[in-house]
Amino acid sequence: MTRKTKICVFTLGCKVNLYDSDAMLAVFRQAGFEVAEGLEYADIYVINTCAVTAEAEKKSRQSVARVLKVNPSAEIYVCGCASQRDNAQFEKRGVVYVGGTEGKIKLAHAIVDRYSGASSLPAEADFAISDKFEEGEGVVNLRTRHFIKVQDGCNNFCSYCIVPYLRGRSRSRSLQSVLAELDGVADSVREAVVTGINLSAYGRDNGLSLGKLIDALGKYDLRIRLGSLEAGVIDEEFLDATKRLKNFCPHFHLSLQSGDEEVLKAMNRKYTPAEYAEKVRLIREYYPNAGITTDIIVGFPTESERQFQNSMRFALDMGFSDIHVFPYSSRKGTVAGKLKPIPPDVMADRVRRMTEVKKTLAESFLEKNIGKPQRVLYETCTDGVWEGHSENYIKIYSLSGARNEVETVNPKRLYLDGLLV
Ligand code: SF4
Repeated sequence: MTRKTKICVFTLGCKVNLYDSDAMLAVFRQAGFEVAEGLEYADIYVINTCAVTAEAEKKSRQSVARVLKVNPSAEIYVCGCASQRDNAQFEKRGVVYVGGTEGKIKLAHAIVDRYSGASSLPAEADFAISDKFEEGEGVVNLRTRHFIKVQDGCNNFCSYCIVPYLRGRSRSRSLQSVLAELDGVADSVREAVVTGINLSAYGRDNGLSLGKLIDALGKYDLRIRLGSLEAGVIDEEFLDATKRLKNFCPHFHLSLQSGDEEVLKAMNRKYTPAEYAEKVRLIREYYPNAGITTDIIVGFPTESERQFQNSMRFALDMGFSDIHVFPYSSRKGTVAGKLKPIPPDVMADRVRRMTEVKKTLAESFLEKNIGKPQRVLYETCTDGVWEGHSENYIKIYSLSGARNEVETVNPKRLYLDGLLV
């Protein structure tokens, strides 16, 4: 018997990319390919790239070199946001095809066909941005949490963001298709994480809304967690829908980006700090112990020291349970990409100070949850220590547990980046 073709799908970037990679892996598994765990020797590599920052794009480029170190004669396929933005940067030894953000499933099928001798790669035109929503085609994964992509693209055009240019306009997946995918995994996982590039825009193009989608998920026993949200989507109707779910996880990742009104305006964000604060207040009215996490961009080109301090103060006032601190990264082709960046030493200093705020807030949220019962879903075990997440997204460590099990625990003390039972 001949050896099975081994394939490695290497993913950079966001949960949506992770979802797309899972969808491609499902095609490869179904076709009988052997799938590599992590970056190990394989015959074929698919690199699913990211372009959200210059650093992410650099890492995407470097992964081609990393793959070639593992297998110098590898056949490499590149797709995702970085290759959509600039495909020439991936035209290197070993790279046989550079696609973009669309047509990843088609690419997976084309690779399968190519290895079974059925056909060649699809024409370049098949990879152009289209309005069509590409669906996951029966994603199967071995995680305890299932990421389900319900929306792609974005119409917001925040002044710093390259994503709308790369992923195209917002489009929502049909309810029927979302439910069909969840029906297939509902018995094997315990949590569904609903994701999208701009999840808050779900339904605007198909007569639905995020609230209606949430209502439709009520038939599952799964814990339901939502991906990143825009403040505008939070209202009573939406929160009422979450309350109707049996197992809604009160964890809200509410993108902030800056706590200063003028900077928000320069970023072309659609809310003021006061409006954002009102949404946080409303969330806490419904869920007093919600985990509220956010993204903050530090060092936007027009951000003054005073505006930066406003941003820090606002973050402290909001009492976030975690902040993803991003140093501003200039992306060519965006409105802000034409502005002069702030000096690197000022940037480094602001990143350091905002990271201090993040640590203070994260610790205080953890401390507040010591002794409070938490429903934890155990995911992994390393050297006898189980790890999982509570509903409000606290990392819980325990000396006992079982994969894919949900248990109520009473955390006793701080431990690493979470709480120990
Ligand atoms: S909402 Fe703004 S930051 Fe988010 S993907 Fe759209 S343009 Fe980018």
